[in-house]
Amino acid sequence: MLFLDNKVLNHSVDASGRTRLLRELQEQDLNPLIRSLRTQCFTDLLRGSERIGEMEEVIARWAESNTDEPFVQGDVFPFEDYLLYLVFDDDDSDDAFVSAGIVYETNTLEPFRKLDSFCHLVRSLLMSADQAQNREHIDAFPNWHSGNRTMPQGFRTFIEKQDADSLYTSLRKETMSKRILAASRLEDDKARVFLRTARNAFQEGYAVKLLSGESSSGTLPIEELENVGLVEREVQVSCRKTGHALFRLPNADALAVVTVSDATCSECGSPVADENVEEVIAPTPLATSLLEDGSWLVSRLHFLLRHLGVPEREIAVGPSEGTGSGQMMANISGESFLIATRDGDLTPAFARWVIDLEIETEASHLLIVATGRIHKEAGLLLRNHSRRRVSVGQDFEMIIADDVASAGSELERALERVSQRIIAEHLCILDNSIGISVSKLVLTKFQLLAAAKETQREVEIVQPEPESSNSSTALTWAAAAAYGQSRQVLEIQPGPSTVMPEPELTEASQEESDLTLGSSFIESQ
Ligand SMILES: [Zn+2]
Repeated sequence: MLFLDNKVLNHSVDASGRTRLLRELQEQDLNPLIRSLRTQCFTDLLRGSERIGEMEEVIARWAESNTDEPFVQGDVFPFEDYLLYLVFDDDDSDDAFVSAGIVYETNTLEPFRKLDSFCHLVRSLLMSADQAQNREHIDAFPNWHSGNRTMPQGFRTFIEKQDADSLYTSLRKETMSKRILAASRLEDDKARVFLRTARNAFQEGYAVKLLSGESSSGTLPIEELENVGLVEREVQVSCRKTGHALFRLPNADALAVVTVSDATCSECGSPVADENVEEVIAPTPLATSLLEDGSWLVSRLHFLLRHLGVPEREIAVGPSEGTGSGQMMANISGESFLIATRDGDLTPAFARWVIDLEIETEASHLLIVATGRIHKEAGLLLRNHSRRRVSVGQDFEMIIADDVASAGSELERALERVSQRIIAEHLCILDNSIGISVSKLVLTKFQLLAAAKETQREVEIVQPEPESSNSSTALTWAAAAAYGQSRQVLEIQPGPSTVMPEPELTEASQEESDLTLGSSFIESQ
């Protein structure tokens, strides 16, 4: 996914100043794509590079006086996995400005710092140009201010409503930990049913058979659940006569301590050592916490958003209201996404709750994930709401998904559409200068880059290590395939250093430069 960030400088640059700025940037190893193309054209035409300066001047003068458009409208500076751009906007001469931006992908390192240093360079070049002509203006030389770094009001209100101690913080802490991995296993319906039954059985204090896994379907991999910390093996002691569970112990060593102590059964009075001892599978507190209110769904979607490259600060998780529904929001370059989840049917009551929430947050994208059946009335309510939003001319899109894999791919497509639209909006002004759609060029570059990386990854995992094939892994793979990631990412062991190394690095390095951006953001409010 591509992101765009930009800054704006309220300063007017005349025709010769623009050409000079591009030339000076070129001297600093920033290669302006459009200007390079033009000078190459002049060189080919003149059969040499001696007189291209004069050629450029004459053509610029001609263009200024014969066409409506300025000769230099801006330029694009390409780099390996990002590009910088400059756009001169002078539609209204009283409010002329220069806009500088960066288009980058999820894994680009320190994008804000790159943009900041580019802005710094551009401003100092413009200042020294001004200085050379006329000194007294220097004190009043404007500063860059944030461009699209605005937060939709609905998203801001949503964040303000969060309880600092709620799921929001716990999710933050656990983002990189076991919770993510465990939540991915819960995409398997059978695993959820098993864990729910197991939990209930435990609360009742019996059903040893079920807990030992004997009666569960053969396809459910207990080891898988154990590996991700959803279940743990315990030793259960139950009365031989009544069959009731007496107590559970973490392991067989603990049992030795109990038998030595001459404890007796509370039901029949026999020594505990003579009672029934079995190993059972018990759901962990993590399993209980993830299943409660379908919070595994929220965890999972949070992970997906992060995996798609959405920065942590642009995601907010709402408090669970104890109704089995989850809510979260994401802000993508100024467009807000509302995500409502329910581990169960999409009921009319849930649909009404979602509609209320959507009205309150004014989100322009609504994603609903409900793992159960869609009730007809609920579907109707949602469709009518969507129609009302669109009919009053608002940008609105609604997506309903019944599992995480399809929610993930729909979400990716929606984010992709938003990012493409934003890039086109910022760069289309340069289309005429180059004769090709600049945003199309940029998007294609990154698509080709991603395709090349994907091919490389496929070559790397051509011989995966042997692994037991089971439904849960297959589901994870399907989910991974659905949002176009390599399965390596999901198959790694828990631990902050191994989960998504690249995005984490990016995030960490972004934090520092965020400080400056954050302050400029506050000023502009
Ligand atoms: Zn007994």
